[in-house]
Amino acid sequence: MKTQTKVQHWVACRDCDLLQVVEPLAPGESARCARCNALLDVRTGGGIDCALALTVAALITLAVANIYPILSIRLQSFTGQATLLDMVRIMYAQDMALVGAVVLITALIAPALMLGGMFYLLLPLRLGYIPFGFSWCYRMVRHSSPWVMTEVLILGVVVSFVKLNAMVSVQVGIAAWAFAATMVLLAAIASSINTQALWHYYEKYSGKDSRHGYVSV
Ligand SMILES: [Zn+2]
Repeated sequence: MKTQTKVQHWVACRDCDLLQVVEPLAPGESARCARCNALLDVRTGGGIDCALALTVAALITLAVANIYPILSIRLQSFTGQATLLDMVRIMYAQDMALVGAVVLITALIAPALMLGGMFYLLLPLRLGYIPFGFSWCYRMVRHSSPWVMTEVLILGVVVSFVKLNAMVSVQVGIAAWAFAATMVLLAAIASSINTQALWHYYEKYSGKDSRHGYVSV
């Protein structure tokens, strides 16, 4: 005969591995490990409104960063400028297809997937319902996140600017500033909402309490 036993949701401390129960937090509260005082969970005051606003802003700056030129070069009567996609095309034409693909993935595809996914999740949650494929979409956001490397691209632009400026007249384009703004906004999004907070909203609107599971014995 099967009976059901209620089991609590345990969280392992990342620093000392101590298992402990973390109750749902209110905005502005944080939970710390009872043994080593490491941060276990935090609920930012801005909440979903702040995260959604930052995500929309980052989508706009990412679009600007991929439409406008990153660098403009002037040498006597010659003037040239290149967008990110121009740079990828040039790399492909010069037998550097692999490098071009990495640039395309880390500076455009991964940030677009991550930000698009966050927008798809946050807007319905803000309106009070669960989007279709919540788990699948959040998994995609988590998997694309490590491939977002806008800071590496910014570093490359700075190095190119310093190296080329000694030989030709170089101007930093609007896209470089937009990439820098995207980089800052991505960091702000990461600090404004976390995994636990997203699942908190999921539980709130779905009526399911995933903090407690049931096992058959
Ligand atoms: Zn600990």
